[in-house]
Amino acid sequence: MEQLLDVQNLKIQFRTGEGKLSPVRDISFQVHKGETLCIVGESGCGKSITSLSLMGLLPANGEIAEESFIKLDSDELTGKSQDELRKLRGNRMSMIFQEPMTALNPVFTVGYQLREPLYIHQKLSRKEANQKAVELLDKVGIPDPKKRVKQYPHELSGGMRQRVMIAMALACKPSLLIADEPTTALDVTIQAQILDLIEDLKQEMDMGIIFVTHDMGVVAEIADRVMVMYAGEVVEIGEVEEIFNHPKHPYTQGLLASVPNVEDDEHTLESIPGTLPNVNEKIEGCRFHPRCPLATEQCRKQAPPIFHVNENHTSKCWLQEEANINDKSTTTS
Ligand code: SF4
Repeated sequence: MEQLLDVQNLKIQFRTGEGKLSPVRDISFQVHKGETLCIVGESGCGKSITSLSLMGLLPANGEIAEESFIKLDSDELTGKSQDELRKLRGNRMSMIFQEPMTALNPVFTVGYQLREPLYIHQKLSRKEANQKAVELLDKVGIPDPKKRVKQYPHELSGGMRQRVMIAMALACKPSLLIADEPTTALDVTIQAQILDLIEDLKQEMDMGIIFVTHDMGVVAEIADRVMVMYAGEVVEIGEVEEIFNHPKHPYTQGLLASVPNVEDDEHTLESIPGTLPNVNEKIEGCRFHPRCPLATEQCRKQAPPIFHVNENHTSKCWLQEEANINDKSTTTS
């Protein structure tokens, strides 16, 4: 698969009264064309802020540290001005937000909001943009699009508003779509329809998708690869089957053990003890060690590097080093 997005050593900083805080530190990952990368982890682990940083939408006191590197296709994004990023946003990369009622402007019609990116990026006339807006609403499955295009967000149901958000995000055929928990506020039947819609549009437009969620059921449904984040770090990345069938990092194992299994009567729901550390909390060694049932003395003193499980699967855990050493000695003996 052709690489679309390359993120290397991404570090996000916030200037606060207590000095600089880094909610995301040194994370690296790639997204390929036609691929869905799901970012998972508990609330507050850095998933959404990572997505916002890629779009250049960090709050005013936030910044991407100098050593970070982000490349979309052949364009290096780090170092671009807000004006330059504005030309890419809604055009080459788009975002669907979690709560359409707050992301859509309540005082403008759906059509007005859909036409805006078409005027700015594609220089369409009002008539052309209006026609395209109707086509887009039709494409995302909104019935009677000619009527809906003239309505305000409050006149639509939650599912329809989310479809409008998707239509807006796809208006200029972006190569990268970032979806931040786009189905969390919807009921399950609408959620399934929206997931199917995103999947169909991905295939049709060969987009790369970053899908942020904490719902492992959704991940199983749509992911090609999964990136697990904990306390601002990437702790495991791998193909979806690998992550579900052979998770290596104890945090990933904990997340999967906390998913209900309705088919297994014997299944007991596990929880991960403790809570996510504060962003400014200094933790020596592995950041997961206070909650990890397998933590050793080494884990408490030394932060683990990233270890390869195989070519497409990595885990940031000392246990993987041990597993790799054992594998090597079995192969050589
Ligand atoms: Fe647990 Fe140690 Fe692995 Fe961290 S490095 S996840 S504490 S076993």
